[in-house]
Amino acid sequence: MKHIKKVIVLGSTGTIGRLTLDVIKRNPDKYELIGVSGKSNINELIKQISEFKPSAVHIYDYKNVYKIKDEFVNLEVYTGDSGICKLLDRECDIVVNAISGFAGLIPSIESLKRGFRLALANKESMVVAGHLVKDFEKKYMAQIIPVDSEHSAIFQCIDAHDKYVKNVILTASGGPFRGYSKDKLKYVKCEDALKHPTWKMGKRITIDSATLINKGMEMIEAKWLFGLEDNQIKVIVHPQSIMHSMVQFVDNSYIGLMSVPDMRIPIAYALSYPERIKNDCSELDLFYLTMTFEKVDIDSFEAIKLAYNIMKEDGTYPAVFNAADEIAVDAFLNKRIDFLDIIDVVKYVLDKHINIKNPTLEDIIDANNWGMETAMQFIKDLNH
Ligand code: MG
Repeated sequence: MKHIKKVIVLGSTGTIGRLTLDVIKRNPDKYELIGVSGKSNINELIKQISEFKPSAVHIYDYKNVYKIKDEFVNLEVYTGDSGICKLLDRECDIVVNAISGFAGLIPSIESLKRGFRLALANKESMVVAGHLVKDFEKKYMAQIIPVDSEHSAIFQCIDAHDKYVKNVILTASGGPFRGYSKDKLKYVKCEDALKHPTWKMGKRITIDSATLINKGMEMIEAKWLFGLEDNQIKVIVHPQSIMHSMVQFVDNSYIGLMSVPDMRIPIAYALSYPERIKNDCSELDLFYLTMTFEKVDIDSFEAIKLAYNIMKEDGTYPAVFNAADEIAVDAFLNKRIDFLDIIDVVKYVLDKHINIKNPTLEDIIDANNWGMETAMQFIKDLNH
């Protein structure tokens, strides 16, 4: 009998989490959902439990535990930070980490410690603690397969040829404000920033795509995932989001990966690797396909320049970068700051930070807390 892979999905109620469940639902002969974890969207979580009947669930918000316990008497229900470890103590093959933000770091590490395959959609794990996460992967003989579309593409393009990589070229859609001057960016509204031209995603990543901070994070993510030097990482704007990234080899040949922008493709690949599974995602209509590539306007979108500096400094800078951005995006979504203030908040907090090289996990957690507090204080001062 074919082995059905047991899957735990962390962050199951978010965009990537739901798409992962969709992939699992379409492949019942290959995957079984045995556990889910959600933050606060209790109705979606209840819907998922009814449909997939996992044996365990974790919910961050303890107030909701009894709502779930009342409805599903035979279900193991965990809560809080320690609860996630209990969920991961179950026998499983693949953990999909689709938690958003810094909160995804510890679950990534705990998954690797148990030797699971980690299908990683939480890019912050790699951004803030890439060196530690890679160490855990090696030490516990676990395996990280990226879910981020660009990194899934690079992973597939490199395949077994990692000795010959010259550069990796991350593609960026450019977001809704591609072509805007800095002057024009001053006046953009939250509603406009939330209208991404090609991808449907959660709120933070949509704003991060508009500032290109998401691309900056992906540069750092690529560095650690593929063991690259900073100058091997290039970014190019490709508005159609068909080419998901490319690898340039030492002989100046390029391999790129194309598909319609549908996250179910990289999600399924992270589950099925090294095999591939059929799906009913759209085919590319090659006869009507236009693909263009442009330089990034680094004056309007400073995030790319900033990311190179952060990679050079390394240490706790990436954690502070992420922390300040989490707070700044939240303030922008709540209309407390303007669009261009997001990058200013991040720059201010990075400027104030005293870097710690080769940080421990504790140093990174401290840097995250410090970065969030410093950003909050700065935003408060801005509003006075
Ligand atoms: Mg991406």
